[in-house]
Amino acid sequence: MSNFQQDNVALMCDISELVSLFDFEAGLDGFLAKVVSTVAWHMRAAVCSIYLYESKTRELVLRANQGLNPALVGHLRLKLGEGITGTALKEMRAICEANATDHPAYKHIPGSNEEAYLSFLAVPIQRKMNPVGVIVVQDPQWNYFNPNDVQALRVISSQLAAVIENAHLLLRLHGGADSADSALGHDLFPGDPGFEVGTHCIRGQGAAGRMAMGLSTRIGQYLSQNPADHLCPLGLTEADFDRAIQLTERQLMDLQARLEDKLQDAASMIFGAHVLMLKDDAFSGEIRQNIRSGVSPWNAILNQVRHYSNLFGQSSNPALREKVLDVEDLGHRLLYNLATPSFDNASPDYTGQIIIAEEFLPSDILKLAAEGAAGLVLLGGGQYSHVAILANALQVPLVIVSDRRLLNLPENTPLLLDGKEGQVVIRPGPDAIKTMQEIIRALVDSERLADEVLPVTRTRDNVEVQLMANLNLVTELDVALRVKANGIGLYRTEFPFIVRNTFPTEEEQYHGYRSVLQRMDGRPVVFRTLDIGGDKALSYFPVGHENNPFLGLRALRFTLRNPEIFKQQLRALFRAAAGHPEAKVMFPMVASLDEFMGARDLAYQCCDELAREGIVHRLPALGLMVELPAAVMIADELAAAADFLSIGSNDLIQYMLAADRTNDEVAAWYSPHHPAVLRALQRIVTVAEQADKSVSICGNLGADPSMLPFLLGIGLRVFSLDPMQIPAVQRRIAEIDLTRARAFATKLLGLGRISDIADAIPSFDRPE
Ligand code: PEP
Ligand code: MG
Repeated sequence: MSNFQQDNVALMCDISELVSLFDFEAGLDGFLAKVVSTVAWHMRAAVCSIYLYESKTRELVLRANQGLNPALVGHLRLKLGEGITGTALKEMRAICEANATDHPAYKHIPGSNEEAYLSFLAVPIQRKMNPVGVIVVQDPQWNYFNPNDVQALRVISSQLAAVIENAHLLLRLHGGADSADSALGHDLFPGDPGFEVGTHCIRGQGAAGRMAMGLSTRIGQYLSQNPADHLCPLGLTEADFDRAIQLTERQLMDLQARLEDKLQDAASMIFGAHVLMLKDDAFSGEIRQNIRSGVSPWNAILNQVRHYSNLFGQSSNPALREKVLDVEDLGHRLLYNLATPSFDNASPDYTGQIIIAEEFLPSDILKLAAEGAAGLVLLGGGQYSHVAILANALQVPLVIVSDRRLLNLPENTPLLLDGKEGQVVIRPGPDAIKTMQEIIRALVDSERLADEVLPVTRTRDNVEVQLMANLNLVTELDVALRVKANGIGLYRTEFPFIVRNTFPTEEEQYHGYRSVLQRMDGRPVVFRTLDIGGDKALSYFPVGHENNPFLGLRALRFTLRNPEIFKQQLRALFRAAAGHPEAKVMFPMVASLDEFMGARDLAYQCCDELAREGIVHRLPALGLMVELPAAVMIADELAAAADFLSIGSNDLIQYMLAADRTNDEVAAWYSPHHPAVLRALQRIVTVAEQADKSVSICGNLGADPSMLPFLLGIGLRVFSLDPMQIPAVQRRIAEIDLTRARAFATKLLGLGRISDIADAIPSFDRPE
């Protein structure tokens, strides 16, 4: 047995130190060399290696090693799935073998002297949805590594992932001389003669993620000013068109497979829809006809795409109007592939780019994340929009700006984004780079904090508080578990619906819900029924034009109007809840007792039907979201009827103050500091207490450090938040004394002006 169990704390400290001392002069390879020797030393392992993944060749390259033949560094390459190392990355799981040669994927590397090492432990390094590499330790002793070793190497791999990604960004900024760029296929500044240091900073709203660096690309305007125009070679033939079609199809299938691998709940057919269009004779057949009649392939594609996007754009059917983006996206890909003379199977688009658009659909966010976009800039929109929520779920930095000059930015302009502070830096200079370095160091520290979260959160005076996670996509469960969330306080079940092209069946839903419960292993999970409408449309189920979608057929209104859809979801939920007393279900946007009771009656009906059909099920606790002013006014009656309440502050603020949460122009009016908001919150908590019903907050307000004293002061003890915010919120709560918080809440509730409340909030942290 290794000594790693005793020594792993020391190892992690050493790695953390290395991370914080990352030396940009020594480059990534210098850093990795230090990591392998530190890991090997602490683990008393004979060999430690780090392989990094090259997206262009889809191969792993040995980048640092201690113990094997040094001549292999930089030369040894493994395909995804090749050997135990390639398998660990392909299947994104740690592989620990007592005797490596017993593993079916074992591959002998000639000249490596590996045969002497029996024990083999490989842990994938992964960042967001993307493979980064693999760290491997080996030792001559049989069965040398134990589960603690696996766990500790996982922690290290997650720290390494952040450093490697950030190092790439910074090394590129330092002049792009790092060989990592070519090794990873990220040629970030390809022949950009205009890269001069002339920094401009545009301020907007930080909506998701943190830092990103990349070259600008504008989407949604391919046809007027195609980024590939300048690439168009002359003399293209029908054979070139055929080649472009085949390549496009291969890329789309590849992207589809990647999405399905990573986002099981999304199981999206986004790229599948593009393949169908590509194969449609009315689309590609007509292009071919035109090529045969003498039109150049380039113009034939361009004309056809323009024709279709005009056709769809003029449709009164919103689902068809949404297809404009699909057609343009497909057209862009086809033109790119037509114009690119040599190619491989890799997708040319978006890797390492910052995408600027006037609109993103939720499916765009998924697609762009799968295609490796580094960050997103949205013109218009608000930070509480669901597009922002999705970008956050996928950890893709998103900044929302209103400065339309960004639309005229030349393609491939270097940009730096800060998705938290809401900044877009154009052609970042040395100062911006330095700031970014500091932020990245702090981020690496905060990643470490995620592993240091305590299982129980307490206030300074020792009162326990529940910190639950909000879940949009099942992918986020990993983060929720890592930060020891006490449960899932809000599962926005509509996201898996939104990112598909058809309704999931009852069976598919049942399996999805059950797997969330199983993974949360007895901790509470609150499933919110579909919140469709507002800014979350189903492209495959148009509801017709609405002048004010947020005041339209949204959430419970939508499901009550479409009982078949609603009942299918309820049946799936109740089947999944069998044997899981910790499962709860809540209804969004309840405006009246009548609506809640209508939904509850449907729930009872579903249970009766399931019982008649002999299907195992359980009626879970049924709660509701308080997110309309009407619900606040009748909160006492609602609290009496429901099993529990949850405050949806994102909507509550928008509806109380008539300030669209997605509209950047009215962001100043969307104020949690409004006395009406504070008093509404207090009223909801008080009536829930009086009715002896539990109450939580699941809107973003619950994670606002400056508002936590107030929220605790009015009696909230259950918070559901973006899991990434749990470490910081736990630390903040530990600083808050409840006696002071109560007095502070009373003081704020007595103020009548927004500005007075805003001014008083920081006083909680001032010494008395
Ligand atoms: C809310 O409105 O606060 C909420 C949590 O729900 P959503 O953001 O999904 O509308
Ligand atoms: Mg809401």
